[in-house]
Order: sequence, then structure tokens, then C-alpha cells
Amino acid sequence: MNQIKIKHIEAGEILDSRGNPTVMATVILSNNAKAAAAVPSGASTGTLEAHELRDGAKDRYDGLGVLKACSNVNVHINDALEGIDAEDQENIDKTMIDLDGTENKSKLGANAILSVSLACARAVSVARGVPLYESLQKTFNLKQSSKMPTPIMNLINGGKHASTNIVLQEFQIIPVLGNSAAEKIELGAEIFHKLGRILEEKSMDSDVGNEGGYAPDVESIDQIFEMLIQSIGTNKEQVKLGIDAAATSFYDARSKTYTIAPPEKELQAADLSQLYSQWIEKYNLYSIEDPFDEESWNDWARFSSQRSEEDIIIIGDDLLVTNKERLKEGIEKKAMNAILIKLNQIGTLSETVETIKLAQENDVKIVISHRSGETNDAFISDLAVAVSADYLKAGAPSRGERVAKYNRLMEIERKLKN
Ligand code: PGA
Ligand code: ZN
Repeated sequence: MNQIKIKHIEAGEILDSRGNPTVMATVILSNNAKAAAAVPSGASTGTLEAHELRDGAKDRYDGLGVLKACSNVNVHINDALEGIDAEDQENIDKTMIDLDGTENKSKLGANAILSVSLACARAVSVARGVPLYESLQKTFNLKQSSKMPTPIMNLINGGKHASTNIVLQEFQIIPVLGNSAAEKIELGAEIFHKLGRILEEKSMDSDVGNEGGYAPDVESIDQIFEMLIQSIGTNKEQVKLGIDAAATSFYDARSKTYTIAPPEKELQAADLSQLYSQWIEKYNLYSIEDPFDEESWNDWARFSSQRSEEDIIIIGDDLLVTNKERLKEGIEKKAMNAILIKLNQIGTLSETVETIKLAQENDVKIVISHRSGETNDAFISDLAVAVSADYLKAGAPSRGERVAKYNRLMEIERKLKN
């Protein structure tokens, strides 16, 4: 077969779900196969994430424009990749990493690089005439399996994702039992609506936050758990609770205290651990993401050592930033037993898959994740299936950019069953 080459790449500015600019790249191959991909953007970003290049010019989008990143694609990246083998994803990504030359992709921008990385992979799937997940399995030599990820749905949005008095970022439901992803999504959506009715009955706000979950002011964190349990009702065997504390966002490094609310309390790491343990016992909490600050390795390790694997899933997001070296450290220190995977934290598809493989070799569970600022691009759903991920975290079953991921997952499942 003739080698498929990259013919042309171009990028343009589009808006994400928060109305902020982001990069969309389109790749055209030598056989005229063509595809586009768009990158998401976080709000509670880890300090060690790859660099998201923003224009900084206050006269456009309050400095958030991404015209420089787009221009980097149109000029430098296009020049460097034109004519190279489109199926050699590792070489494509390595070429961009070398062209950038910085540790955190700050010269070209991780948003510029990732848009091209993803658009290339998708264009290749078009050229191969196979679905994206299948094409990814071929490219990265991944085992084909019919395992579908379990959705993690964020039903109450707090922290940096909503204007509420809730300091913790996410309160999630996880439909762990079910015959299919479609069945789990159905159950999740029904619980989402039930929760909406409960909020209305209590005259609480049932409008939604950045990730499609409700964003009310509440009396206490316990009230959130209680309303979630009420909305789960008789399905408590099938549906578990999870949180993403995003603890770095309420940690004060100078005083080494966490300020949570409501009600407002200042806690040391040991007190916070105890509070989590109480929630595990009382509410049968199934997973906790970012329970501590992103550099407080010892607190992570101490907490993990106190709990057993069956007890609780401890997920590293800001702690690990999809970075292989951070993951190695996390494994050595036994800081967590799961990793959140966000493509734009590291900036290329190849590096992301490398991190996933390292995690799987070490029995670290895989949670493929969206960002709070999203587009309708559902690449992560294909990625989750391609790597046989354990979970897919894509927000509530509400808002177009969130349901795009769940809808794609159900579409893939239907394809796999035929
Ligand atoms: P972010 O939030 O996309 O705003 O970083 C998602 C998360 O913390 O998991
Ligand atoms: Zn997180």
C-alpha cells in the first residue's frame, strides 16, 4: 500500500463551552482523507500541565485569544509535518515536541500541538476506513476488547466550575453495575433528572454549572450526599458516589491548611483524611479524586496506605497531570491507585498513550477525562474504548458538549455489538 502522507494542516480559533477561544485543527492527507479535532481547556489546572498558549492581548477575548497557537500550526507545524508518514503517530508527535523544544510545550503551545496530534489520528482513521477507536488500536498496538468504560457523572458542580458556596469541585454518581454503557448512561440520566426534581421541591437552584451538573447553594456538604442518595433511591447497589475534591484549589501552602465549605472549616491534612474516611463509611463513597494538594505526596501516600484497594479508588489528576514521570513517582510512593487522563495536560496523543500503558502495567486504573471547558469533539470516547479504560469522566448527562461524549460511547457500543 502506498504510504499516506500529510498534505496540509491548518488551524483556526473556535469557542469552547465557556465561550472562550480554543484551537481546532484540520489535517488533509495525500489521499485527500480529511479530519478535524478541537482541544478542550481546564479551569482547575494543575501547575505542571503542559502550556496552553494564549495571546494575552487584552483587546481580544480578555487576553484569551489563541491566534498565536493557530498561527504556529499554520506556519511552523505545517512546514515541519508536510510530506511525512501520517500513520507514524509517534514520529508526528516527536517532530512537534522537538520543534517546540521546551519542557512544557510553551513555545508552540500544547493546544496547538494537541490539535494537530488528534486531527492526524482522526484523518488516518478516515483514510483507513475504520472507526477512530479501531484505528487507534492499530496505531498503538493495543489489544482489541469489547470492554466499555463506566461513566463518572458529575451531578453537582462546585469549586471553580460554578458560582456556589460549595468549595469541593465535583459530586459524582458512578453506575458501576449494568449490562452495557447504554444502560449505565440511562440510569445516570434518570438519577440526574430525579435530583433536579428534588432540588426544585426544596426550592433550590436547579440551573447547571460548567460541567452540566446542578450548581445550587447548599446548607452543608452532607446535604449534597443526602440528596444524591435520595435520587439514587433503590439503585444503591448499582450506583456509587464519587467526588473530585480538586484540593489544590482550597489549599493554602503557607499555613498548610485546607478551607472547605459549607460550613466553613479550616483543616490540616490529617483532619481532611478523617473527614474523607467518615464519608467513605457513611455514604459508601467509591472514589476520591485529588483529595490533597498536588505537591503533598506524603499526605496522599499516608491516606492511600490507610485504605485498601477494594475500599476506595484514589485518583490522581493535578497530582499526575497525565505525565509519565509523575505517574512513576506516584506508583513508587503508592500515592494513588488510579490516574485521570487528560490529553491536553501532556499535549500529544503518543505521550498520553504511553502514560496509559505504564499505568496499566502497574494496575493503576484508567479514568479518561474531559475538561471543564469543552467542545463537541468526542475524541476521548474513542480513546477510552481503544485503551480499554475503566472509566470515562465526561460531566453530567446534560449540555451538548458533555452528552457528545456519552452519545459517542453508546454509538461505539452499538457498532461493537453488530
Ligand atoms: P478542569 O476540571 O478541566 O477545570 O481542570 C476537571 C477536573 O479537575 O477533573
Ligand atoms: Zn480533577
